[in-house]
Amino acid sequence: MDLKSIKKLTFTINTLILFLVFCLAGFFYLCKATFLIWFSLPTALVYVLGFLLIANDRLDYYVRIVYSWLTLYMSITTVCLGYKLGFHLYCLSMIPIIFYTEYMAEKLGKKKINAFIVSGLIVICYLLSTGYAAYAGPIYEVNNNIAGLFWIINSAIVLFFLIAYSRIMLGMVNNYEKKITEIAHKDRLTGLYNRHYMMQQLEEAATSSEKSYVAMIDIDNFKQINDQYGHNAGDYVLTNLSRIMQEICTGCEISRWGGEEFLLLGQGETASTGQELVEKLRKRVESESFLFEKENIRVTITVGLSQKVKDQMVDLWVKDADDKLYFGKKNGKNRVII
Ligand code: GH3
Ligand code: MG
Ligand code: MG
Repeated sequence: MDLKSIKKLTFTINTLILFLVFCLAGFFYLCKATFLIWFSLPTALVYVLGFLLIANDRLDYYVRIVYSWLTLYMSITTVCLGYKLGFHLYCLSMIPIIFYTEYMAEKLGKKKINAFIVSGLIVICYLLSTGYAAYAGPIYEVNNNIAGLFWIINSAIVLFFLIAYSRIMLGMVNNYEKKITEIAHKDRLTGLYNRHYMMQQLEEAATSSEKSYVAMIDIDNFKQINDQYGHNAGDYVLTNLSRIMQEICTGCEISRWGGEEFLLLGQGETASTGQELVEKLRKRVESESFLFEKENIRVTITVGLSQKVKDQMVDLWVKDADDKLYFGKKNGKNRVII
């Protein structure tokens, strides 16, 4: 969730709370709870100030001022009308919201609030107001039917907030996790898997009963491309070659193994499956011209292909493909060695 969405969400919540404050002021009027009617006035002003803070990106102040006032408002309402109406429940719902806010502030690099201290203060307000209401009874009497109705409405609102916030929080954590996993598994330039992720895949493939092969692919004379056309051109070739590999090798896993070296892991019943696919790739690369800043760059690849042998160690399996690649490099390049 970015700052814009958080602002939008906070704006909606602020509007809802302000609306509730007006509705409650009407209710206090009906109950003849004079003090609460007057107290609604500064409360409404605080939420109007809330809009200004949101508009000026001062969400840190918003959280401090608005949440503190909300706690005070709910505590005073509990003292005045008793706990049977359920206003104190809002204090409880604020605790996870405070922790969520601390987490968000950290993610967005904003000034942090100490959720532990704030929730401690909320607990104190909660205990004092409900304790007083239990001990001394309400200052203004409310009919039991109305109290019951308020208990249900307030409980429903608090539970709705808790469910909505938990959902948003979980969705956000899941999104971050997905992003982090992607960063950890992928190569930034080409978008292919990185060597670390590929090693895990190779370990799995090595122990599975399915037949598989690896192909070590290396661009021929790539240093010359960099020297002749520049490093950016080299990057362009790497990116586009990766795209071509992904296009041709459907159903296989491709990784950037090193600078201009790629390791492909494929599955196939016969040795020729891998050979056909890699040969197709070699021919495609040979025929492709990479247009970069009006320069037509042509490259070739050399490939070492190694079929999995039962109970073979990953290192030896990869080394076999590497040795074949080395052989191809020494014997003319632009070849597939099996
Ligand atoms: P060979 O045919 O024997 O493989 O020769 P080569 O020139 O391809 O191999 P060499 O190992 O001599 O050079 C590899 C070059 O790849 C050197 C390095 O600058 C370049 N390279 C490695 N990573 C990148 C990269 O991310 N971007 C660019 N542009 N070049 C890279
Ligand atoms: Mg090379
Ligand atoms: Mg190389």
